[in-house]
Amino acid sequence: MKIVIPEFMDERAVAQLRAAHDVLYEPQLVDDTPRLLAAAAEADAFIVRNRTQVRGDLLAALSHCKVVGRLGVGLDNIDLPGCAARGIEVIPATGANALSVAEYVVGTALLLLRGAYASSAAVSAGQWPRNALSNGREVGGKTLGLIGFGSIGQLTARLARGLGMQVTAFDPMMDDDHPVYSQAQVRCTGLDEVIRMSDVVSLHVPLVDSTRGLFSAERINSMKPGAVLINTARGGIVDEVALAAALKSGHLGGAAIDVFATEPLPATAHFEGCPNLVLTPHIAGVTAEANERVSFMIAERVLKALAVVKP
Ligand code: NAD
Repeated sequence: MKIVIPEFMDERAVAQLRAAHDVLYEPQLVDDTPRLLAAAAEADAFIVRNRTQVRGDLLAALSHCKVVGRLGVGLDNIDLPGCAARGIEVIPATGANALSVAEYVVGTALLLLRGAYASSAAVSAGQWPRNALSNGREVGGKTLGLIGFGSIGQLTARLARGLGMQVTAFDPMMDDDHPVYSQAQVRCTGLDEVIRMSDVVSLHVPLVDSTRGLFSAERINSMKPGAVLINTARGGIVDEVALAAALKSGHLGGAAIDVFATEPLPATAHFEGCPNLVLTPHIAGVTAEANERVSFMIAERVLKALAVVKP
């Protein structure tokens, strides 16, 4: 059978697929729409990251595809009802990149609260900015607020507890007395309280209708003065212009943003000159180890799905 992979995947996992099937692996194919559509028409299985939009013309072209493997977790680039209507199974790499994202959250929380690690140029130039950098904050004893308490939220809580943070979480899909909260030593509370009480707020919800625009100007302004916002979930959840304004006014103490409403992010005026802001190009979940785990998980699950398909 034919497997089409239009974005990057671990080469050894691709080799595992090649041992059993005819594989077209072209990591740049996502950017060549006519060839992508032609390849899709041949595909029995289609394996994507988050750039390939599996909807509209592309979904229509997947005329005999049985399975879409997703090299990641968020499924907002896939028309799930459309796939279901065509009998296409969608397989995400649930949990396989959670540790990379959780480490990004804890790492940027440490970096942003301390605010001390951008001094190399000044120190090597003999400026010795010791007074200016002596007011950094510790994470120990601070409150981390998690919006969304699934795979990544739970792992982030575990790492943060190890650093002595208090953790509160909001997840409308989980009962307040769900045992996972007490097991993780996490206080479950309402959305507004998490936002108001936390020194660090980190987002771990999917992009769906109810989370689009969730972090509006009003919610950003209701965060604790000096607090830090970390968004590794999806662009479209945070109002980027309001966030930039809150950093510039000094209301927020810092932010780390890995995901954007438009990706790749074009040159963007509103982020210019924002203090204590870390911007990364959607890599929170992409490390050498996570890429390997995600790729092998999807290779194995796609092989299993194809094994039960009648040619
Ligand atoms: P998950 O499905 O395990 O957890 C998501 C949680 O969000 C669930 O517990 C669910 O109950 C909750 N939820 C759903 N709707 C909600 C709402 N309206 N408000 C609050 N909570 C809601 O997913 P995960 O593995 O923890 O990943 C979370 C998100 O992180 C993914 O959807 C994806 O968009 C994003 N992600 C980004 C990267 C990256 O590289 N930046 C990598 C992996 C995942």
